[in-house]
Amino acid sequence: MMLAKTSHEPRPQASPSPLEANGKRFFMWTIGCQMNEADSAKVASTLQEVGYRPTHSEEEADVIVLNSCVVRQAAEDKVTGKLQALVGLKRRRPETSLLVTGCLVTNQQEQLSQRFPHVDLFFDPSDFDQLQRVVPELADLDDDLSQLPHYYLPESSGAPGVTAYVPIIYGCNFLCSYCIVPYRRGKERSRPISDIVREVEEVASKGVREVTLLGQTVNAYGRDTDGRAMLTDLLRAVDAVPGIDRLRFLTSHPKHMSNEIIDAMAELPSVCEHINLPVQAGDDDVLRRMRRTYTRDYWKDRIAYARERMPNITVATDVIVGFPGETDRQFQATYDLLSDVGCEKVHLAMYSPRPGTLSARWADDVPLHEKQRRHQAIESLQERLCTERNASRRGERVQVLVETMAKGRWTGRTRGNTLVHFEDSRDLKGKLVDVEITHTSPWFLIGASANQPS
Ligand code: SAM
Ligand code: SF4
Repeated sequence: MMLAKTSHEPRPQASPSPLEANGKRFFMWTIGCQMNEADSAKVASTLQEVGYRPTHSEEEADVIVLNSCVVRQAAEDKVTGKLQALVGLKRRRPETSLLVTGCLVTNQQEQLSQRFPHVDLFFDPSDFDQLQRVVPELADLDDDLSQLPHYYLPESSGAPGVTAYVPIIYGCNFLCSYCIVPYRRGKERSRPISDIVREVEEVASKGVREVTLLGQTVNAYGRDTDGRAMLTDLLRAVDAVPGIDRLRFLTSHPKHMSNEIIDAMAELPSVCEHINLPVQAGDDDVLRRMRRTYTRDYWKDRIAYARERMPNITVATDVIVGFPGETDRQFQATYDLLSDVGCEKVHLAMYSPRPGTLSARWADDVPLHEKQRRHQAIESLQERLCTERNASRRGERVQVLVETMAKGRWTGRTRGNTLVHFEDSRDLKGKLVDVEITHTSPWFLIGASANQPS
């Protein structure tokens, strides 16, 4: 049964009113996780606030911002490659400001400035005020820059879209042996619940209908604040915001995936039947060496409880293949676990040693060709499982939140996060539409709209 939403007193808007365009342009380049996308949205909206407009061309930008990721060597190589590629532009147009933020930067500013002297500013994502050093117009803003919401877009740039990411907790208190994140993002810091709810109300007032709450360990929300407000309290508060029809949160750590959180997911009407719960490996010895703090059975039990409470729930997970010392048998345990549980989405990575982490001291002893074979095996498994599952949905009627139009087709997602395409001549952006599924593929569904949108 859908519960009615309670209404809130309108709160004061945190954002200042937008200035006129000042003729200057910014170019934003982002790689990495959703947290980086959220931080980039904040930089972009702040620059727009003081009159800058976005451009797709680095050549015509007055400010270039690169938001970096170093979770794997391949990501770090992309960032350093991009930085090298901008040496020529900076020589030709020295007046262009080049800024770098993201996980590459934290605690590394000095070394980076020596290595890349053409960069004007390396700023830590948690030290947003640094932007003022190269964007003088930001002094015109009354607000403390770090207090600006992530998703405010000035009126002049149009609606912010249908879905929005809202960070709720920064950093991570775990120390998984392979992971560089705690060294770059620091300890867990939960944002005050009132700030988060105000930000959600603000995006809802601009037409956003789906919010995804973000954190490296999102379900640790509140644990660093003497339990003043925990994730379940926050889910209830956001569920009650008028206009928010769908609520998601990622990424959860299995250790903190309590029955209370799963119960709240099942009870709150806006919380979608979708869980993002990284397992990383299906063998207990590998999990122990990864310092993941749970066992294979514990992870399975969390999924089982979620399915007991929400039989239609879809499951996404993260897996690393080729961790140091991972034997064929141990890899097979991961493969079998994913096959048994039937995850809808596996975010798959080949192990990449990160200097400074514990596992980087161990031999990276699974050869590349073997990592690639394991990677391919899980990709094929995923394709088979998704083909079978999606095929069984032909004829089903699913609720789709319509996000974009591309090549004459509307695209949106189900509550379980499956992509759906359909044709309809009406303007359906931001509408909830029932779609009857007519064709399926492993990665998306195709259908026909079946009702009046809401
Ligand atoms: N906090 C989440 C968790 O508990 O799993 C994940 C956040 S992590 C930044 C995102 C993903 O990157 C991880 O789930 C892991 O699969 C992958 N990852 C992190 N370090 C890695 C490494 N050294 N090599 C390969 N993949 C890595
Ligand atoms: Fe990295 Fe582990 Fe923290 Fe996730 S929980 S961010 S994998 S250290």
